[in-house]
Amino acid sequence: MHEMSVAQNILSIIQHQLSEEQMRNALLIHLRIGDAAGIVPESLEFCFNAITAESPLHSATLSIERIPLQLHCNTCNTDSISESGMFLCQQCGASDINVIAGTELQLVDIELNDAIEESA
Ligand SMILES: [Zn+2]
Repeated sequence: MHEMSVAQNILSIIQHQLSEEQMRNALLIHLRIGDAAGIVPESLEFCFNAITAESPLHSATLSIERIPLQLHCNTCNTDSISESGMFLCQQCGASDINVIAGTELQLVDIELNDAIEESA
């Protein structure tokens, strides 16, 4: 399953960024996922919860922000949002487009429980 390897990638990024104590205090993991990123958010959440269940991250949950597929058309020079996920201009149907947003998979931010944070 594609989402499983994505979940594993996210986990390893978090493991590089946070200490084990910080992972225990992690509450929310903010992700930004484009509609055209080829990821089903529900599956990703399921996989992430499965692989973190026995880890210091077990109490953290994913918070997923969906980004619509936004295209710029080089033929009619307009920007549009493709609800269908097709890489075609929604104004004139041309395929000569640039993707503005909607294919990203980004780890935005990790929210820690401040109450237990170290005083550095
Ligand atoms: Zn167009």
